[in-house]
Amino acid sequence: MTEATGIVGEFLTLKEGTDADLLAMQCGDFYEFFAEDAEIVADELDLKVSQKSSHGSSYPMAGVPVDDLTPYVSALVERGYRVAIADQHETENGHAREITRVVTPGTHLETGDESAQYLAAVVRETGRDGGDTYGIAATDVTTGQFQITQLDDADAGEALTELYTFAPAEILPGPELRNDDEFLDRLRERTDAALTLHDAASFEPGRASHTVREQFGGETVDSVGIGDQDVAVRAAGAVLSYVEDTGVGTLAAVTRLQAYGERDHVDLDATTQRNLELTETMQGDSSGSLFDTIDHTVTAAGGRLLQQWLQRPRRNRAELRRRQACVAALSEAAMARERIRETLSDAYDLERLAARATSGSADARDLRAAQETLALLGQVADAVIETERLAESPLADALDGADRDAADALAAELDSALVADPPGTVRQGGLFKRGYDDDLDEVIDEHEAALEWLETLPEREKERTGITHLSVDRNKTDGYYIQVGKSETDAVPDEYQHIKTLKNSKRYTTPELDEKERDVLRLEERRHDMEYERFQELRERVAERATLLQDVGRTLAELDAFASLAVHAVENDWTRPAVVEGNELSIEAGRHPVVEQTTEFVPNDLYMDDDRQFLIVTGPNMSGKSTYMRQAALITLLAQVGSFVPARSATVGVVDGIFTRVGALDELAQGRSTFMVEMQELSNILHSATDESLVILDEVGRGTATFDGISIAWAATEYIVNSIRSKTLFATHYHELTALGEELPTVENVHVAVDGEPRSAEGDGDVTFLRTVRDGPTDRSYGVHVADLAGVPEPVVDRSQEVLDRLRDDKAIEIRGSEGDSGGTTQTVFDLDSGQFTDGAAQSGDTSAGADEPVATDGSPEHAPEGSVTETPGGDETAASLDPETEAVLSELTALDVNETPPVELMAKVQEWQAELDDE
Ligand code: ADP
Ligand code: MG
Repeated sequence: MTEATGIVGEFLTLKEGTDADLLAMQCGDFYEFFAEDAEIVADELDLKVSQKSSHGSSYPMAGVPVDDLTPYVSALVERGYRVAIADQHETENGHAREITRVVTPGTHLETGDESAQYLAAVVRETGRDGGDTYGIAATDVTTGQFQITQLDDADAGEALTELYTFAPAEILPGPELRNDDEFLDRLRERTDAALTLHDAASFEPGRASHTVREQFGGETVDSVGIGDQDVAVRAAGAVLSYVEDTGVGTLAAVTRLQAYGERDHVDLDATTQRNLELTETMQGDSSGSLFDTIDHTVTAAGGRLLQQWLQRPRRNRAELRRRQACVAALSEAAMARERIRETLSDAYDLERLAARATSGSADARDLRAAQETLALLGQVADAVIETERLAESPLADALDGADRDAADALAAELDSALVADPPGTVRQGGLFKRGYDDDLDEVIDEHEAALEWLETLPEREKERTGITHLSVDRNKTDGYYIQVGKSETDAVPDEYQHIKTLKNSKRYTTPELDEKERDVLRLEERRHDMEYERFQELRERVAERATLLQDVGRTLAELDAFASLAVHAVENDWTRPAVVEGNELSIEAGRHPVVEQTTEFVPNDLYMDDDRQFLIVTGPNMSGKSTYMRQAALITLLAQVGSFVPARSATVGVVDGIFTRVGALDELAQGRSTFMVEMQELSNILHSATDESLVILDEVGRGTATFDGISIAWAATEYIVNSIRSKTLFATHYHELTALGEELPTVENVHVAVDGEPRSAEGDGDVTFLRTVRDGPTDRSYGVHVADLAGVPEPVVDRSQEVLDRLRDDKAIEIRGSEGDSGGTTQTVFDLDSGQFTDGAAQSGDTSAGADEPVATDGSPEHAPEGSVTETPGGDETAASLDPETEAVLSELTALDVNETPPVELMAKVQEWQAELDDE
């Protein structure tokens, strides 16, 4: 290996000392990448690679001008790279370079994107009892948000779901999780986040708790109710230490610690966010998403907040009622609402400006923007106070979240300091108003006077000398000069010293002009330095009020988001839902919020509660099943955002999570088999959903052979109904499953009628069967096996196998669990061939025994669905409907061991049985 020296050697040494993916090292007016880094960067950014020779070796080199670094780094970070930046500074003997910051996906300040950008850490601790506790901390350095939570006795799925709600750009897994390949794989699969292994010591409890207390103050930490021993503190400490290490300089803006409990938000995993097309369609476009449809915000911060609300719906009914009341008030007070939106449309992104002030990257235009936006608070507050409908709503309290007097004071201070339209650079003066600072005024006065003298010099000289073609100008090489047209050069006075001859003119200087030039340059430099110094002080004072900026920004954003929800509700005739405790979900004349925008939508009803907990949705292709179910999920979600909903009326029982499994389009693209994905999603739902969740299953089992598919769907349905008890909508093309709807008390069938009829109706027993059996012998048991591999809960896998065996052997399935009995004591057999329930063939709880151990008819009425109990057609020996004598004969026959019985005895037996059967 060649030991590189010189500049390349310096680069390689610096590179060795950082764990960043790429290093940009300043060399004069350029930032250079060398060696491998040069090739990567050239590839990603379409830069030219040149060769740098260093002591006999040659290294690839790519560079960007110093002033252009930011966009290049942004582009690299957006592609997932972590980029270290080494700046050059002067020293006594030449210059030195050191890494001043590392820009990473989660700590990227100059993001071009308006949406939130979270950096998260996740830690796991396993208790003595074997239960796992997860701690999660997430911060958005662009706005200073910081949230932590802890999941006690949780599994990896729950932790991942919690993480997904932040859609993090970068994740720091704790030391315990780094060797858990399965966990890391799932992280990689489900998020685009960069995974970074940050210094394990920063996760250490003592150090982490110290870091957290330093950052937020002991009192704050105590007041949000987190103890030093909490696992969440370890995650929080690591996040803070990482932000510090990367040197973005925004740590001071991270002031607002929010701890939230497990029960605050609705669980929405990444799959569900995608299936419901909350912020992107399944095709990955933002247009056509729910957010895109309902977003009428007029500020970046308002849009960001609304998007977060959609991604993190709430469970707390008091908070939902508060939001609803704000939306309701704004939807009724149209004039004031429009006045507020008009005012807000002038607002800049205060939360981000706060971070820029803190990191020292804000320029005078940024501070002007902050000033103008702070001043808006008073205006919108007036609009609220002066409108009775708004003044009496919780909006008035929402405004109290920001200190109006402090905002006015800071706005006034900034206004008195900065000129109305400052330049985009902070080092060349022209930033401050007169009267802001006496010393500065003095320098400015002198500077302006000198400039004035220069400006009026041509007039004076023309008059004095009689020369008409005379001008005064300045350039880099000549400094200030007097230029005289060629025809008049004879008339120049003696003190004019010639410095240059051009084609049509000559340039001169004079001792007086030289002296003024020195004055101007001196004053100019002094003024620039002074203004820059004053500006830094001013920016510092703004940075100290970062919390105020954030509070005002947050308040304005909230107002914007409420107004947006109100606008959408009014324009689309949405209604305020009743948000209640319990499991009811009733929707009258509901619509799909996105589809209704482009289609003459046929409204439909939905009713679910404890007695009607599981709906099997059938109907022809393209009849609207998927739409109907997503609509139910979206209306629930919107209600838990605090929004109005697309319906004539709606009552929504608060859910703790929404889980969906919808045929996705991009599975093939991800290189995973569709069916495997389907089973993983099902598995995740069966593990995560609770009796307070809403579950949407849009075709389960379709990716495999028919019998396998039915078996899995059947077993999953029984498991949800009997063990999980979530509110569930299940669309299926397996009409066999409607038997469950007729038989299990809390399961109902609905079907989607076509041709513009209302799209929901009670099940009417209209059962048709799918007879195309697509499975061949080779993949017969593939489906259940994959379900097992995908981690579907064991009872469901075992049960699927049983159902499958019975389907194959007997073409019949028995239904487990009825009348609130999850144990599965008595069941009615559903006969696949006839499509009927068979009478008198109830099975024992040990269903694996199958049909060969018939027991006496249960006959209890609750198991005989009206109108569907029929005789089994003759010729079907396996299905039951047999009289007791026949059954007795059959069981004897089955029990008989032919090989061990002497032939004579056999003959006697057969005669005996014949006689018994003849008796009938
Ligand atoms: P399915 O899942 O039954 O195959 P989809 O839900 O995918 O059907 O709907 C099929 C088409 O019908 C879609 O284009 C959808 O936009 C439209 N659609 C669904 N429900 C309605 C409705 N209630 N009113 C109008 N159009 C609808
Ligand atoms: Mg569909």
